[in-house]
Amino acid sequence: MIRYPLARNGIVQTVQGEGTLLGTPMVFVRLGGCSIGCSQCDTDYRTVEHLTVAEIQSRVRSVRGDAEWIAVTGGEPADYDLCELLEGMRLCGRVMLATSGHKHLGGAGSLCDFISVSPHGTPDDLKVSGATQINLVPLLNGLRLDDWEIFSGTKFQHRWVTPIFSNLVETAECRAFVERHRGWRLGVQAQNVWGVW
Ligand code: SF4
Repeated sequence: MIRYPLARNGIVQTVQGEGTLLGTPMVFVRLGGCSIGCSQCDTDYRTVEHLTVAEIQSRVRSVRGDAEWIAVTGGEPADYDLCELLEGMRLCGRVMLATSGHKHLGGAGSLCDFISVSPHGTPDDLKVSGATQINLVPLLNGLRLDDWEIFSGTKFQHRWVTPIFSNLVETAECRAFVERHRGWRLGVQAQNVWGVW
């Protein structure tokens, strides 16, 4: 039986603030730890406890209200064997997985209803070649839109470019990118507007 590492505030109900599921109430399950090591990481992914899937299910059910979705995020959840956790979460609701895409998902991918990839770096760093959504956030952890000019992204059903909140120069660059690349859309980090996370 695996005991999964949980970060601080590891199981909370909130509202999705970016991408295709924007505005959707979800329970976030935030795993601790991350092997990716982005230079500008501002995520507190320190592990504060280890829980079994049954314990995580119990916590999820206690906070979920009517939320339909469970978002498994991190840190980098793909650092772990996720199958047992995802099978447990599927008994609680629809499952979204948020990953940098820098690690193969293996069989875990088929257990998700929605996979969101937010890369840091270049297309060469991506190990997840297709998913429900890709969300490029330039300036975040070294991501430069110039590196993504010839990346078609057609294996990602929804393709977003999201400027960092309130950065008008970056917003203009993101807008120009989506105008040059058919099928891409301009996103927003609404959680910063709403003040929720
Ligand atoms: S993948 Fe995410 S959590 Fe991990 S170092 Fe990069 S920004 Fe931080």
